[in-house]
Amino acid sequence: MAINFLYPEYEIMRNYDRCIACRACERQCANGAHEFLADKENLICDDSKCVNCHRCVSLCPTRALKIITSGNTYKNNMNWNGKTINEIYRQAESGGVLLSSMGNPENYPVYFDKILLNASQVTNPSIDPLREPMETKVFLGAKPRDIERDLAGRIVNNLPPQLFLSMPVMFSAMSYGSISYNAHESLARAAEETGIYYNTGEGGLHEDFYKFGGNTIVQVASGRFGVHPEYLNSGAAIEIKMGQGAKPGIGGHLPGAKIVGDISRTRMSPEGSDAISPAPHHDIYSIEDLRQLVYSLKEATEYKKPIIVKIAAVHNVTAIASGIARSGADIIAIDGFRGGTGAAPTRIRDNVGIPIELALAGIDKRLRDEGIRDNVSVVIGGSIRSSADIIKAIALGADCVYIATAALIALGCHLCRSCHGGKCNWGIATQAPEYVKRLNPDAGYKRLVNLMNAWRHEIKEMMGGMGINSIESLKGNRLMLRGVGLNEKELEILGIKHAGE
Ligand code: SF4
Ligand code: SF4
Ligand code: SF4
Repeated sequence: MAINFLYPEYEIMRNYDRCIACRACERQCANGAHEFLADKENLICDDSKCVNCHRCVSLCPTRALKIITSGNTYKNNMNWNGKTINEIYRQAESGGVLLSSMGNPENYPVYFDKILLNASQVTNPSIDPLREPMETKVFLGAKPRDIERDLAGRIVNNLPPQLFLSMPVMFSAMSYGSISYNAHESLARAAEETGIYYNTGEGGLHEDFYKFGGNTIVQVASGRFGVHPEYLNSGAAIEIKMGQGAKPGIGGHLPGAKIVGDISRTRMSPEGSDAISPAPHHDIYSIEDLRQLVYSLKEATEYKKPIIVKIAAVHNVTAIASGIARSGADIIAIDGFRGGTGAAPTRIRDNVGIPIELALAGIDKRLRDEGIRDNVSVVIGGSIRSSADIIKAIALGADCVYIATAALIALGCHLCRSCHGGKCNWGIATQAPEYVKRLNPDAGYKRLVNLMNAWRHEIKEMMGGMGINSIESLKGNRLMLRGVGLNEKELEILGIKHAGE
């Protein structure tokens, strides 16, 4: 008899007094965790198949279901905890690399939670955002250092191409293939309605979404999937993806099973063959090489589109950002080590990279010290969870933030961290038509619009409380921040004082 070393992570609790055997849970669970026994007219469940996505819980008409963390324990200790033991059993069984979805869940400090905001009291009065104008608009792109005038004294408009946003938030890269058609449609429509941008990721742009081009950032990654002149010219900006926070230093891999139909055509990649993005761009080994690609893309789009260079936050990120700011790029995007992903090797995701807060503070300071801060705008991402995180990021020096996980949660994601399995019960990280249709893009886009409107309102309230009436005045304004429970070195890198100072 085979020994089963792995205990289920969760237990499905069914209250049989409430259950009316409607079988909705059986139909809803893509993992087949519920089963109806016709002879007993009752349901049983297989806990080992449950990923705790809460689909069945949410749709049970009688609230008969509850998912709890399994009470089964290994004889673990601080050094050998249950998760570590479990992972070794899994690798001893499979012989393979462990894969995970979404962001790094390990217990590293979340610096945003150790930073507090200021509020005006007697002097520098606060501003009431309901009665007084507040500016949340942002322009992203290189800014000229001097104002030039012609002989008649008129201002010469020599502004490089800019992205104009109604608020300092964009939906970050999620490829068609890693997320569904309906998820993409929701993001695209919400970006258009709220006056921000969404990002194709490295999967190309489905022909149905060209109409949202004015609110689309098209990505060029090392695999060059779906990249062609029409694609480059369809978006409002082009993003060169050099790295990603969830998997710095390695490429991407979309299994052949997901490269079917529209996805294969959009990616310009044969059906059924794995789409592998190499770890490096094979034409980039220096900042000079990066500059070549930046200018090739500018040439291809007649110098009308800002070029974004996206990197992961790693140890020497300030020097890398300084190089990018000199490469001709208009915007730098930095992805912190808590950034989400559809699939990444667990060891890389959980052990590589640095917190986005430290990376951002270091980059902003270095670019200012070198007098090149205006060469580029800085966009950061990697687990921005709320409007408070946005305010803190702007005060630490960001021009704007990228969100992805928060946007997916707005669409219904329950963070079950099983995207790599391709059976997302909420119709987001899946291509199976029967699951994709569970996400209604009409409802999805409205939920995203609601989230953006709510955050915009909160941003105005927090800025008003500080007596600041525009994002531009908040940018890099570290006097508005104080640290709690941080050591001298951390405060020094963040460039903020401790609370009470
Ligand atoms: S959905 Fe709820 S009521 Fe229906 S069979 Fe499942 S547990 Fe019972
Ligand atoms: S995987 Fe989701 S739908 Fe299936 S039993 Fe678990 S919580 Fe319910
Ligand atoms: S997108 Fe779907 S599969 Fe991925 S974490 Fe969210 S609910 Fe789970």
